[in-house]
Amino acid sequence: MTKIYKFQDDISTEASKELQKCSSLAIDTEGSGLQIPHRDKLSLVQFSTGNNDAYIIQPNRKNYKAPNIVKILENDKITKIGHYLRYDVSGLEYFLKCEVKNIFDTKIASKLCRTYSQNHGLKDLVSEFCGKKLDKKLGSSDWNKNLEELTDAQLQYCSNDVIYLHKISAALKKMLIRENRLELYENSIKFLKTRIKLDQSGFTEDIFQH
Ligand code: MN
Repeated sequence: MTKIYKFQDDISTEASKELQKCSSLAIDTEGSGLQIPHRDKLSLVQFSTGNNDAYIIQPNRKNYKAPNIVKILENDKITKIGHYLRYDVSGLEYFLKCEVKNIFDTKIASKLCRTYSQNHGLKDLVSEFCGKKLDKKLGSSDWNKNLEELTDAQLQYCSNDVIYLHKISAALKKMLIRENRLELYENSIKFLKTRIKLDQSGFTEDIFQH
């Protein structure tokens, strides 16, 4: 059973101190939709230490004041592992007005080293590296309900998006090294912040394409 901790507005100072002892944290967010930030808003932020736990925080959508979350995100000693951070980092930086430092993106890593597969969804990686079947059905559900109204199934769903990421990132890092693509990966990640700026400025297409 995943140990789930819920927080309203911001993670508690005690929990935040615990999390900051970790060298890496898995991270994910849920929003009211995929068009962040202009149409949709950040609804939930999830962390995991990698020990089958999930810290689920519902930020205050009126002011998005969450200094304890920001402290974690801006701590460059902690690697934030996420899947498709182009979405999550965009929402976090825009709504929490912060800079997310030191990131590892399992989707970009997967695309660069798992060239034998066309499938780079979290579900595919969880299946390959953790031998578990992820149910993504609840992905599009109402995350803006009150924290107490979120169902156990919803809470387990948004925990599942973070609890496997440590294992997956370790496996992918080994593969990137084996395939001699670590440098290419690192340079791709350096561009992510610019990619997000392009998204937020309306340039959602690939500007390198002919
Ligand atoms: Mn998610």
